Amino acid sequence: MGYQIYLFNSLTRKIEKFAPLEDKIVRMYSCGPTVYNFAHIGNMRSFLFADLLQRVLKVVGGYKVRWVMNITNIDDKTIRDSAIGSPAWLPEMGKQSNDPMKNLTKFTEFYRKAFLEDIQKLGINLKDFYKMPKATDYIPQMQELVRRIVDKGFGYIVNGSVYFDVSKWRQYDIYGKLYHIDFEKFKEGSRIDADSYDKEEFSDFALWKARKEGEPYWQFTLNGVKCDGRPGWHLECSVMEREILGLPFDIHTGGVDLKFPHHEDEIAQSKAGYGVEPTVFWCHNEFLLVEGKKMSKSLGNFFTLRDLLEKGIDPLDIRFLMLSAHYSTQLNFTFDSLSSARKARQRVQNYIYDLFDNQNLKGKEISVEQLKDSVFGELANDLQTPKALAHLFDFLNNNPADEVAKSSAKELIKFFEELNSIFNVWKIEPRPKVEFTIPEEVQELAEKRLNARKQKNFALADQLREKIKEKGFQVVDTKDGYIIKPLTEE
Ligand code: AMP
Ligand code: ZN
Repeated sequence: MGYQIYLFNSLTRKIEKFAPLEDKIVRMYSCGPTVYNFAHIGNMRSFLFADLLQRVLKVVGGYKVRWVMNITNIDDKTIRDSAIGSPAWLPEMGKQSNDPMKNLTKFTEFYRKAFLEDIQKLGINLKDFYKMPKATDYIPQMQELVRRIVDKGFGYIVNGSVYFDVSKWRQYDIYGKLYHIDFEKFKEGSRIDADSYDKEEFSDFALWKARKEGEPYWQFTLNGVKCDGRPGWHLECSVMEREILGLPFDIHTGGVDLKFPHHEDEIAQSKAGYGVEPTVFWCHNEFLLVEGKKMSKSLGNFFTLRDLLEKGIDPLDIRFLMLSAHYSTQLNFTFDSLSSARKARQRVQNYIYDLFDNQNLKGKEISVEQLKDSVFGELANDLQTPKALAHLFDFLNNNPADEVAKSSAKELIKFFEELNSIFNVWKIEPRPKVEFTIPEEVQELAEKRLNARKQKNFALADQLREKIKEKGFQVVDTKDGYIIKPLTEE
């Protein structure tokens, strides 16, 4: 049996006891990327949060997880940027065609593949996904939902586009379950076509958008009216989650910016069309910030993963940084915080290597069960990674790896294996043997240092140790002299 999992539910604004609807299997849907560009690391925070959650559900909760993440490959932005003559079209994508649909496919497939490469570098395993559906593979089902909503009287057609009637819906159910909406500002019958819009602009939203010249479209006749066009963004998720997971499912994730309008509209559409709300738990991650502002493409203050890899940054340091902060707090991205994350990650890695070196038959016995309870207990409690890691580092500081008994070291290695199936940033193996040759000058410095020590000139010995360090080596004093080793990161 696993640990009891607790999660903050944005719908009730409370931390709740989690239990899946189906015994032992958690069905979870994560809003995935819109593939019109390389994802920035702000987007990545939301995918890493979902990855952490599904891993905690498995490893700490003891559940099986059916994890679905969609690929939005048709929306305002993918259409805009794949259009003929668009400056966003890259030479690597090949030649543009006269057919907007072909351009859309080529363009979005390019970024979908890039996305898959990127998330794998960040330690997300593709085999953990039950499915990664593309929106364009579900168009008939999307048309079907539009039809249902209209037939039930909650949607209407204007010039080939179909809108959701918010005022009608409000006579039936609450609109604004995830987000407080000021209905004073609502103008009945006002409509918005954009996929993304602010709380201030809220009005009837598009379920289906009529084709415009030069845009990709699908044929659609609704109640005798020709409505050729394409789905609205919110509708896409309502359909894919139902088709793949069934309604209602257990957990829906996304960034906080998706609460409104995306998720609010999803709830209204699914309930209006299918008669059921999508999910029991709505879980939202907070933003990644840069200098106090949300990292976003529109503000231009973003780094893609690729930007950071070009600077020589290890993607697993990014993963560890993001996982170290609690998902519901804003995280300010700085290179200093990245380098602290790197040090902390390395500290644990060296401890693991040291455990493999441990030959201490008389060392102290450790209660690994107690350590596991304190760390996993925090993870079970709404993914409290900062507290879990605080327990871990306390333990590391109080129990140097060479002081624990060999039998405990073995058990600790097993614990780290389990912990790593959540964090996925360490190697659970002995320290790699590094082949190295000691340069002559380092050898000479070490000899000089040995003499200085013999003459009890410790100041000089210390100076020489520093010089050796500058050359990338360290001297370790032994009974009969010294050994020279390459400097390792600590
Ligand atoms: P998009 O590709 O724009 O649909 O966004 C994909 C995901 O990234 C969504 O869940 C967003 O809420 C999330 N997201 C966007 N910007 C940020 C950010 N700065 N920090 C955290 N999550 C973000
Ligand atoms: Zn979505």
